Amino acid sequence: QPELSGDFGTLMTWADEVRRLKVRANAETPEDCRVAREFGAEGVGLCRTEHMFFESSRITNVRQMILASDEKGRRAALEKLLPEQRKDFTEILEVMAGLPVTIRLLDPPLHEFLPHEESEFAEVATAAGIDVDTLKRRAAELHEFNPMLGHRGCRLGVTYPEIYEMQARAIFEAAVDVAEKSGAAPIPEVMIPLVATRRELELMKAVVDKAAQAVFADKGRTIEYLVGTMIELPRAALRAGEIAEVGEFFSFGTNDLTQTTLGVSRDDAARFLGAYVEQGIYAKDPFVSIDVEGVGELIEIAAERGRKTRSGIKLGICGEHGGDPASIAFCEKVGLDYVSASPYRVPIARLAAAQAALNKQ
Ligand code: PEP
Ligand code: MG
Repeated sequence: QPELSGDFGTLMTWADEVRRLKVRANAETPEDCRVAREFGAEGVGLCRTEHMFFESSRITNVRQMILASDEKGRRAALEKLLPEQRKDFTEILEVMAGLPVTIRLLDPPLHEFLPHEESEFAEVATAAGIDVDTLKRRAAELHEFNPMLGHRGCRLGVTYPEIYEMQARAIFEAAVDVAEKSGAAPIPEVMIPLVATRRELELMKAVVDKAAQAVFADKGRTIEYLVGTMIELPRAALRAGEIAEVGEFFSFGTNDLTQTTLGVSRDDAARFLGAYVEQGIYAKDPFVSIDVEGVGELIEIAAERGRKTRSGIKLGICGEHGGDPASIAFCEKVGLDYVSASPYRVPIARLAAAQAALNKQ
């Protein structure tokens, strides 16, 4: 179990006295959350929900959901997934009680969940009552030529709102239960991925708010929550002024924002990165340290336009850069409210945030 004691603990206390930036963690399991809290995280800045869908006990239901041919079929599978998602969120909110937890609704391209083996197709066929050949045809239809620019993020929520509705219900049911049991009400921040336009966020926020109202009416209790968006596409950064009319917070997804700003695949950059750094084209790996002149300028534009619309809008960063000291210095300069890093980088982020604050004085 990690523990910050002795001289290291003292150093951390000093860092906390001078830093302005809050430090959160990217965490998606109760174990991650526990580690993050031990290391001093002040909330969860990114809970990715996609890994939850891969769990062996539920992958068949997930596959049934994505291979269903209509909304009725999808809803039948989602009903089975709801209690499991409620449990996921309950466990996380319990560990993080009293702190903000940003939960991001489903993001990855659906084909990632597809069955491959014959036996997997057979399992889904039995669960869904659909024959294997039909399932295989549906699976082939889900093929995408460029999935990272395809049917992912809020595009899933726009085409299949019932998926986000189920997740939102699970979040609010869990949050109300935890508030009732622990007394320290959790503060869920529901985050919509891959938004590029105001209208996308407006549609998705309506789905989330409707689910919240239904749960609150059911349970006879309300809790505070926020609905906001990732800023991870250049268009979203440029249109941040109108997106902030709907979004109550922004979290910069600098992994995708770097990929889409530089036009460089985050999964393949390694092939030419060495040569690019050697030739001085990139000062550093832009997927590690914020490319200040490109991605950084978009962050500045988005922060400025977002604040103009919604003064004091909460701004954070949840890409890998949130744990990188040079990028943290940049976040301090732009005046973000928090950085979010993987749990084991939280102490480094606390120190870097302190150093950035001192350098600014
Ligand atoms: C990002 O794009 O920076 C991000 C945090 O989301 P993901 O890495 O899950 O795409
Ligand atoms: Mg992303």
